[in-house]
Amino acid sequence: MTTYPTLSRRRRRRHASVRTLQEWLTEIGYQPGRIDGVFGRQVDAAVRKFQTAEGLKVDGVVGLKTWGKLKAAVTIQRRVPDQLVMMPEFSIVPRSVWGARQPKHTNPLLKNRPDIFIHHTAGPRPSIAGELGEARKHQDLHMDTKGWYDIAYSFIITPSGRILEGRGYGIRPGATRRENTTSYAIVFQGYFHPTVNEQPSEIALDACVWLIGQLKDGGWVRSDVNIWGHRNSRYARTACPGDHLYARLPDIRKAVNK
Ligand SMILES: [Zn+2]
Repeated sequence: MTTYPTLSRRRRRRHASVRTLQEWLTEIGYQPGRIDGVFGRQVDAAVRKFQTAEGLKVDGVVGLKTWGKLKAAVTIQRRVPDQLVMMPEFSIVPRSVWGARQPKHTNPLLKNRPDIFIHHTAGPRPSIAGELGEARKHQDLHMDTKGWYDIAYSFIITPSGRILEGRGYGIRPGATRRENTTSYAIVFQGYFHPTVNEQPSEIALDACVWLIGQLKDGGWVRSDVNIWGHRNSRYARTACPGDHLYARLPDIRKAVNK
């Protein structure tokens, strides 16, 4: 529906848009009766009740102002279950569950670290079924091809919002040279830079915010921890974490400090 015609019990008593009106009033709890496309007495009463509640002129006429308030009310109503879905209890998937190999060596990392670096894998965005396998492949690359102790990152965030334990808490990451002693490294699976140009999923961003909260609560990082992109590292010559994830770092900082 692109236009919102003026409806009332007298004008346009039968109109295709009356059904939409009835559906919306039902959805936000105003009980207009049967959804039959006819602007009857019950619809009129529901509209007047809605207009009263919204501080509109109470005339039973659904014009632009009433349509606008209805649309806003329906939008808010529909947002509630979405938010419940978007704020699940996250948890950290232990290395044993995603099939990580033992590290060849570990170095401890002090508590209250001042920095977190965000990375992208610059690899494929796996399907849900492929997320753990992609992490294992990444670990193989770091250990076998690059010859490192372990996968370089402290934690891995998948597109479906799973958080995989990388080197984990209290262990020095291996992603930013000398800044490894001052920071945790969080990597998002995907390629958020030209020419692939993926966008990080909202659930992955939420997972990252949750994870940083855990790092703060546990005293692993300072409560005023800096959240950087890998490209901000003094030792980096890289586009990591990609323009599109880098552009979301202010959102992450804002959510973390809420
Ligand atoms: Zn990086």
